[in-house]
Amino acid sequence: APGLYLVATPIGNARDITLRALDLLAGADVLAAEDTRSLRRLLEIHGVALNGRPCIAYHDHNGAKARPKLMAALEQGRSVVYCSEAGTPLVSDPGFDLVRAATEAGHPVTTAPGPAAAIAGLTLSGLPSDRFLFAGFLPQAKGARDKTLAELAPVPATLILYESPRRLGATLAAAARIMGETRPAVVARELTKRFEEVRRDSLGALAAHYDEAAAKGEVVLLIGRGDSPKVSEEEIDRALTEALRDMSVRDAADS
Ligand code: SAM
Repeated sequence: APGLYLVATPIGNARDITLRALDLLAGADVLAAEDTRSLRRLLEIHGVALNGRPCIAYHDHNGAKARPKLMAALEQGRSVVYCSEAGTPLVSDPGFDLVRAATEAGHPVTTAPGPAAAIAGLTLSGLPSDRFLFAGFLPQAKGARDKTLAELAPVPATLILYESPRRLGATLAAAARIMGETRPAVVARELTKRFEEVRRDSLGALAAHYDEAAAKGEVVLLIGRGDSPKVSEEEIDRALTEALRDMSVRDAADS
């Protein structure tokens, strides 16, 4: 059927792909991918032939130029599948502008859901999973990174971050400084791959660990929930009394 299909692909193990994703990859009129080479490799692994169908690159650097091509295909009533390099499109990956353009133009948009590293990490972390905040990649500049960590610190939810293995040690050290050495955290590395590893400890201990041995591969960092600042009954009463007094002082001045 015509429309845009957002199709999730594996985050490591090539067999983590749904039957529906394979059906869509085999049947779509047009394939589009953040990385056409990795999509071609995935098709090859699963025996899906391209059969002369277009396979269009669509990523952060060519989005503005490639989008009209995909929009034209949708306008012609074709089915277009979009995949990111790994996992779920739009999750710290391109696709948002494409989805917005397609929905604004009134084209059907649907998804074949599948792996996302954030959710895989959350499920293995052992941290509460009832409430979580996915914050993607932190800013790279130290000031902006620390500001974001300070914003996230009091959020009463499990925090999920993507991080490069190169920066993991420094990020853990900053998080320990800003959020507290003892706060529980988890580093989930190389999920669904041969050297999958989940390390559960405090921010301080993890910072020390990854300071000595830099992490390798792909990493999800999860941080246990913060405490939203607690306000006591007495403080609320005092604030209310003060506010009421201010109001009556102002009323008296007005009359
Ligand atoms: N769209 C992807 C998804 O659904 O998870 C995320 C793409 S983002 C550009 C890549 C980041 O995701 C990596 O830097 C890493 O933080 C995380 N990631 C992807 N695959 C992973 C894996 N197998 N194990 C751990 N983290 C992974």
